[in-house]
Amino acid sequence: MERVRVRFAPSPTGPLHLGGVRTALYDYLFAKHNGGDFILRIEDTDTQRYVEGSEEYIMEALEWIGMIPDESPKHGGPYGPYRQSERRAIYDQYTAQILETDYAYLAFDTPEELDQIRAEYEARGEVFAYNYETRQRLKNSISLPEQEVERLLQEKMPYVIRFKMPLDRGVNLKDIIRGKFSVNTNTLDDKVLVKNDGMPTYHFANIIDDHEMKITHVIRGEEWLPSMALHVLLYEAMGWKAPEFAHLSLILKPEGKGKLSKRDGDKFGFPVFPLNFKDPNTGKVSIGYREEGYFPEAFINMVALLGWSPADNKEMISLEEMIEEFDLHKVHKAGARFSAEKAKWFNQQYLQIMSNEHIIPAFKRILSENCIEVSDDKALRIIAIMKERAIFIKDIYEEGKYFFHSPESYQEKAVKKVWSPETRDLMQILKNQISTLDFKSKSLKEQFQHLAEEKGMGMGKIMMPLRLCLVGELKGPDIPELMEIIGKEESLFRISQAIETLK
Ligand code: GLU
Repeated sequence: MERVRVRFAPSPTGPLHLGGVRTALYDYLFAKHNGGDFILRIEDTDTQRYVEGSEEYIMEALEWIGMIPDESPKHGGPYGPYRQSERRAIYDQYTAQILETDYAYLAFDTPEELDQIRAEYEARGEVFAYNYETRQRLKNSISLPEQEVERLLQEKMPYVIRFKMPLDRGVNLKDIIRGKFSVNTNTLDDKVLVKNDGMPTYHFANIIDDHEMKITHVIRGEEWLPSMALHVLLYEAMGWKAPEFAHLSLILKPEGKGKLSKRDGDKFGFPVFPLNFKDPNTGKVSIGYREEGYFPEAFINMVALLGWSPADNKEMISLEEMIEEFDLHKVHKAGARFSAEKAKWFNQQYLQIMSNEHIIPAFKRILSENCIEVSDDKALRIIAIMKERAIFIKDIYEEGKYFFHSPESYQEKAVKKVWSPETRDLMQILKNQISTLDFKSKSLKEQFQHLAEEKGMGMGKIMMPLRLCLVGELKGPDIPELMEIIGKEESLFRISQAIETLK
């Protein structure tokens, strides 16, 4: 059997969005499931839409996720170059080839002329298409006499090369996800294949490269479905076998209608890009999943299930298991609704199954960004207490600031509830009693019980004001444990501070 080769072919027009990541993932999974190759090809024929840094961004995103291409501009490979802008010599040869066939012709219409015709159509409420009908009346090598074409060429009149769409033919197509369908060629226009500078457009370069790079399966977004008939006809024109196609449906807005966009992310405050992206024009930075604190495993798990479900509908699945189980036939035809909550849920799940030791370096990095240094032992104890409630590692710091900072203020409601002259005296007594203890949580707990018995009161009457002293409100972890972690000096300081502040 032919070796499976799948390419991800982004244009360097900005960062990857979620749809792009999912396309890359399904490309990768399909290739790896079949023991084949995953190729990254940069489709940069459209220089006007080029955005500086996009290629590096795409590569970095793939690396972050762990989808390393077997062949790419960075890694090279036997079918390079992998940037279309560097493949001109290859294209020239095939431009000459298609001109020998009846599938292509030269078109001399200037952009201004076409604009004018388009405007005339519009004025009549019609839409202009350069197609089997109009080509007879336009300025090209089909409509013009041969000598006229010769003359224009001699005068170095610029021209583009267009595809000559065959007349009234049903093109039978098969998509792995969508099944069979047919398109009549009269509904299609004569697309430009080669621009007036001799460089091919996306359509022509795409099929040349897929052929040259021995691509067996084209898996891409559904926005390319309308181009499939043209691509299949181009393979026919070149006398080549077409690859198999699969078009992935859209990723939808959280509310379910319409394509998920960057605007939705801005509006609801969730990332739509894998990594931070700084817009070179506006300088504005859009936050990425990585910088937001997502684990690559959680991120890619979430993306994978936007349009595909593994056999037993399990949700937590590693990249290795995905490779094992991936099946294009199980990819959904309907659009997949994005959920920011679900994305967080995945991260939370991954955080929970991760060993506490494993989290220490990342946690300490966040602390040092906040000018806090702690021992591994202390970090580990805090992680153990806080992890369960955290979605991101940063939450362990954000939600557990009381491990590092004494209260800056005391919550009013809490003060009203638990603070009085009596509790103030009680805290003073407690402070004196514990100042000689070894500050292990066990001995602290015993001391509190002892005090409760002595005063004939419930433990809550002691613990609540003590919690207010230490945390500033009535939430937080087990108090003896908190005190052991922050230590004697800090604990006593916080109690004194509350006694002084809360009159
Ligand atoms: N360069 C196209 C894009 O940016 C690739 C389409 C395809 O995979 O054929 O989406």
